[in-house]
Amino acid sequence: MKLKSLTLNGFKSFADKTKIEFQDGMTGIVGPNGSGKSNIIEALRWALGEQSAKSLRGGKMPDVIFAGSQTRAPLNHAEVELEFDNSDHFLDLNADQVVISRKIYRNGDSDFLINNAKVRLRDIVELFMDTGLGRESFSIISQGKVEAIFNSKPQDRRVLIEEVAGVVKYKKEKQKAQQELAETTDHLDRVADIITELR
Ligand code: ATP
Repeated sequence: MKLKSLTLNGFKSFADKTKIEFQDGMTGIVGPNGSGKSNIIEALRWALGEQSAKSLRGGKMPDVIFAGSQTRAPLNHAEVELEFDNSDHFLDLNADQVVISRKIYRNGDSDFLINNAKVRLRDIVELFMDTGLGRESFSIISQGKVEAIFNSKPQDRRVLIEEVAGVVKYKKEKQKAQQELAETTDHLDRVADIITELR
């Protein structure tokens, strides 16, 4: 799996549609202060399912939409698209090319797409879980994160190690199965109550 390109449209300072192609040999993005380097990384995390507006330096999620400048009016929606080469089928999808996109409108409505098909946020999060490129994975280390990891509680540090070890997916599945089991137990209790009442 390889990230081939990232397209921003109306996301933060990128009012115009901007496509960044990650060709072989590209190792960095440079630019003056305030030119949008962090916004690019935030766009990547956002498209991968980031749900915390605060961690994207905003108050609420629609704050990621271009807010206008002295010469341009604010926009009404933002979109970020990630294109992956999946010819090794590392991502669990039967497709050589995987395109993920996320859109948001001023009223807070959102769309999530995988290869042009509408999906849930959860589908995107699950697709990247344990791949090393999830929204909170170890491949995106933001400013201050290294220090935060050193200073974090052992339990919090364990979450990161579990992501590296690839066990997060199984833990989520276990959690879901336990929830379903609890619901089924409740239903069985209810059925037992009804049977008792009918006797
Ligand atoms: P530095 O090198 O100082 O860390 P940077 O290149 O990482 O800077 P960013 O922090 O990515 O720059 O970009 C900051 C710029 O993005 C600011 O000029 C800010 O006004 C602009 N910006 C952030 N959110 C929005 C928005 N919603 N609409 C328009 N512009 C925005």
